Amino acid sequence: MDHFDLVDGELHAEQVSLTALAAEVGTPVYIYSTATLTRHYTVLREALDAHPSVLGDSLIAYAVKANSNLSVLATLARLGCGADTVSEGEIRRALKAGIPADRIIFSGVGKTDAELAFALQAGVRQINVESVPELDRLAAIAAGLGVVADIAIRVNPKIGAGGHAKITTGGEGDKFGVPADEALDLYARAAASPHLNPVGLGCHIGSQITDLTPLEGAFGLLRKLTETLRQQGLPVTRIDLGGGLGVPYVGGAVTASPADYAAMTARVLDGLDVEAAFEPGRLLAANAGILLARVIQVTERADGRRFLVLDAAMNDLLRPAMYDAFHEVKPVAPREGEPVAYDIVGPVCETGDTFARGRLLPPIQAGDLVVFTGAGAYGATMSSEYNSRPLVPEVLVDGERWAVVRARPSYDEMLARETTADWL
Ligand SMILES: *Cc1c(COP(=O)(O)O)cnc(C)c1O
Repeated sequence: MDHFDLVDGELHAEQVSLTALAAEVGTPVYIYSTATLTRHYTVLREALDAHPSVLGDSLIAYAVKANSNLSVLATLARLGCGADTVSEGEIRRALKAGIPADRIIFSGVGKTDAELAFALQAGVRQINVESVPELDRLAAIAAGLGVVADIAIRVNPKIGAGGHAKITTGGEGDKFGVPADEALDLYARAAASPHLNPVGLGCHIGSQITDLTPLEGAFGLLRKLTETLRQQGLPVTRIDLGGGLGVPYVGGAVTASPADYAAMTARVLDGLDVEAAFEPGRLLAANAGILLARVIQVTERADGRRFLVLDAAMNDLLRPAMYDAFHEVKPVAPREGEPVAYDIVGPVCETGDTFARGRLLPPIQAGDLVVFTGAGAYGATMSSEYNSRPLVPEVLVDGERWAVVRARPSYDEMLARETTADWL
């Protein structure tokens, strides 16, 4: 399903040898496939377009937080993709990558006044409002700028779902959105303001969702609320269907297909006559990226335990430490021999810096290259310089070509960002 395959016994990214890439760029490094990004977008677009009367003019607003690299965004922009953003920085990235403002949605629980003003001045498609105080602040800011803000209300459907408690967003106790009854009041309150134009409703109930039932429940609730608002004479023209459909991380649960997802959505929205927006993040990016790392050493304990110590660490790929996430690990040039169980760890001084335990792999030696698959989403975007490890670089591959799209900072560059206080 992706474009990271063995060619003559060695893993490649499309037509580019990972061994050659590692020699030129060094490790650790993230590598993204243009062909996979394109394929994922196209599969979803075609699944939606298979229901032209309901979803034909729907917007795919890629969740920028999954992978915000400018070249990744530009690749998606060229395909016609929009953006779901959660900060001024992400709006700036989307605009810089060529995503038109009228395809950019601004979401998030805590938008500052400055960010709201920036979004209004940039002319984004819509701002998804999550609370009463935010609605009132936005009305005041829009009035100050002399503009009318197109908004959607994010409903918390009290249906949480997702692959891990930390990525469930639609549960009753989660911080996101407003309960259904309050959403109706908020919509009416927005309609009464001369500086707000409520255009629709939205929801996002979680990430890595593998079962369509909770999504169907949430979308059904949005439909009911739309009908109620219309009965009250309030127009509703857009519905924002967040809720990150899961992706097949190998070893994880089987996921619903984009076709099943589109069919379910088309069924729920049939005849409602709204413009739908979808906000996939990992669905587009996760399996379009790998993290390439080198084995520093193989440590064998007296009890037989074997540790594979990599030059990649939790600061480069946080998901296993943060969400107990599973990433498949593969050698770039698999050696002959019986599989061996390895604990796969990084050099950071935390026990949490463990990517996997007891993973069966072909025999591996110091200096070998390995990849983490499914690392294109929430990989580089969550990386840090913890332990003063320079920020992990990123490479985009397209057929035979490749480009460093975020360079590894030198130690001098890393230290140059800081200054010593003048009294020291
Ligand atoms: C995180 C998020 C997404 C994307 O979630 P994925 O699981 O990556 O698809 C979409 N919409 C909102 C509002 C989000 O917070």
